[in-house]
Parts: sequence; structure tokens; C-alpha cells
Amino acid sequence: MHDFSYKNGELYCEGVAVNAVANRVGTPFYLYSSNTLTSHYRAFQSAFEGVPHLICFALKANPNGALLRLLGKEGAGADIVSGGELFRALRAGIDPKKIVYAGVGKRRDEIEYALKVGILMCNVESGEELLAIDRSASEMRVRAGIALRVNPDIDAGTHAYISTGLKKNKFGIPIEQALEYYQTARKLHNVEVIGVHQHIGSQITEVKPFVDAIERLVQFVGELKAEGIDIKFINMGGGLGITYKDETPPHPRELSQAIQPLLKQSGCTLVLEPGRAIAGNAGILVTRALYHKDSEVKKFLIVDAGMNDLMRPSLYEAYHDIKPVVEPASADHTVVDVVGPICESGDFLAKDREMPEVKPGDLLAVMGAGAYGFSMASNYNSRPRVAEVVVKGNEFFTVRERETYDDLIKGEKLPRWLVG
Ligand SMILES: *Cc1c(COP(=O)(O)O)cnc(C)c1O
Repeated sequence: MHDFSYKNGELYCEGVAVNAVANRVGTPFYLYSSNTLTSHYRAFQSAFEGVPHLICFALKANPNGALLRLLGKEGAGADIVSGGELFRALRAGIDPKKIVYAGVGKRRDEIEYALKVGILMCNVESGEELLAIDRSASEMRVRAGIALRVNPDIDAGTHAYISTGLKKNKFGIPIEQALEYYQTARKLHNVEVIGVHQHIGSQITEVKPFVDAIERLVQFVGELKAEGIDIKFINMGGGLGITYKDETPPHPRELSQAIQPLLKQSGCTLVLEPGRAIAGNAGILVTRALYHKDSEVKKFLIVDAGMNDLMRPSLYEAYHDIKPVVEPASADHTVVDVVGPICESGDFLAKDREMPEVKPGDLLAVMGAGAYGFSMASNYNSRPRVAEVVVKGNEFFTVRERETYDDLIKGEKLPRWLVG
């Protein structure tokens, strides 16, 4: 579900014409629907009503402060992977007791920051990290809530770059060794073992990998209980997929129906960490066509957004639907590569894509760009990062200004021997 649709031949976000926003803020820009975002959050919320649960939005999908504040008001917690994300989550008013912290490379200052503000738990990814957290907690005279991230060795059937639950991935602790780690953790004086965590991958479009993984987790929680280790939280991670092209991912309700019986027998609170499923289809990237260029073997459509603005096609060969903002009068189509201005052959938004006739100056909407869009954007080729705009009903707000050339050199300094 999303709130981007044509009215009288023109693309709208809720009650706002995309074209009107482009006229105001220029291109390229990200455009988000607040209604889509909250509807997606509420779909999770109501699906899991039947079990004690906490929905921690994965900040890395989209850390924009306005979107976070909106989700926070809905009751969302946060799944963070860095000190910077913790800063953003707190700034957006999210209760530290609803924040969980994953990631294989937590630095000492980041651990101390998390302990200082009293987050719910760290999701620990290695034995050495476990000891580091215990050490920091001891120095700070606090107890650190922790879960161990176990790796259930489940193939979630996603792209190799976004699978995380396989033995060959760098994440988590192999489930066969996890019991040992829990026994070590229990003996530490400054950590409190409260949960078990997993995250098996991203853009998962079936229920089965989740069910398989949760089954293993619930069984493992039973083993821990037998050893006298009482687990309060089962964190199933994120990873629920969305429709980019023709995928038919399960609704959160289907997911919930499949795993609720398993969870109820565990007596634990469920933690979920959806990112893409909440933000992905709540945003688009709007770009303007610049030029055509035809070679003997290819037709290119060159647009003003590039891989620095939306990296997913280049990085994962991800498919994003591209729609004209004004519906074309003719039904003619041509096959083109939609490419950006970056000096890389890997800079494309679409390859061999059947597109309607697009004239220079026309606006295009790159769909499904609300997650891992702006959050992965860079200044490569010294391109200022684009504006972000949120729509609510018939109004729109710029929630992040387009960067200026001065922003590009923020923090740069000249050594004295170069000046004058
Ligand atoms: C990336 C990530 C998520 C979110 O994944 P989505 O596919 O966007 O739902 C959740 N948890 C962890 C630990 C992650 O690394």
C-alpha cells in the first residue's frame, strides 16, 4: 500500500502534486508520504496486538528526523547500529528503553554512550564485544542489558549482499555455539542477559524463513531456560520485503499468524526491527530528464539523479519502478538505460527498461525509494545531497534542505604551509 497515485494524469503524493513540489524545491529530491509511513507502522502494530511486542524501526533504512519523530509518536522504538543513530533516535524523542543496538563493530565510546543513556539492550555479535560491554559497564557502575545475536544459518533467499543469517556472513554467533556464550555472559557481573536476537536478511518475501528461524530461536530459548537462563525478549530482527516490481511479500498479519503460536509458548516479549517494510514504499526519488543519447547498441536516458543519490541499483542491481510524473499521451515505449551524471559506468537507475517517451525536462518518479535511499546517499562527484520533503494531506514540508556547495567543504581546513 502507498499514497502515490495518478489523478487526472498527474502523479500525486497524498493530496499534493509531485510537480508542485518540484517547482518549489528543484530536482532531484526525496518525497515521503507521512500517511504511508504511519499506515505501515500501524499494520505491524495491529498485526502483533495479540502478543507482548515492541516495534523498533531500523534507523538505517531512513534516519530523517521528521520521519523518526512521526514514528516515535506512534509508539515506535529504534533499532540502531551506531552512535550517530543513537543520537538521532534520542533527538527524535524516542525513549531509550525502546532502543536496541546491533552491529559487529561497536566502538568503546559508542558502548559508553548507549550505557549512559540507558538503552534497552545491546545485541552482542561476538565474545570479545561481550567482554568489552561488561568492562565498560563495570567502569560506569551500571548493568548492561544484552541479547546475543545468534546466527540460525537460514537462507532467506535474498541477494547475497543483503543475506545475513548464513554461516559465511559476518553477523551473529553460530547457534551451535550460542549456549556456551550465554553461559559466559551469565557469569559476567555487569551484564544482564535479557534477550536473544537474530536478523536473517532483508527483502524477504516469504513467511517460511521467518518461521524456520523463530522455531530455532524458541527452541533455543527453551534450552537456555533448562540451564536456568531466563530470556525475556525474543528479537526476530527485520527483513520483511516490499513490492519493488512484482514481488508479493506477506502482510505483517500473515507473518504474525504464522509465528504467534510459537511465541506464545515461549512467554517472551517479541521485538521486531522492520526498516524497509515501513519506509520503503513511503518514499520516491524525483528526478528530471536531461538528455537522450543513442549509440548503436544502447539508448540512454540521462537524468539529474545518480548513484550518489540512490545507490541501490548500482550496489545490489536492485529494481526500482520509474514512472513519469505526467502520464504520457502516447502508448509508445522504448527500451533505455536510465543513467545519472556520475562518472562511473555503474551509475544507473535502470537497465534495459521499457519506458514511455520521455522528453528532456520531464519529471520522473523512482518508486520505492523511501528505505536505503537517502540514508545511503553520498557526496560522490561533489554533488550536494538532495532535499527531503514530507507530505501530509494537502501540505508539504521540506524536512531536510538541499545541501549547498558550502556544505560540501564543511570541516575542511588548509595546513598553514599551504596558505598565502
Ligand atoms: C538492516 C537491519 C534491519 C532492518 O532490515 P530491513 O530489511 O530494512 O527490515 C533490522 N535489524 C538489523 C539488525 C539490521 O541490520
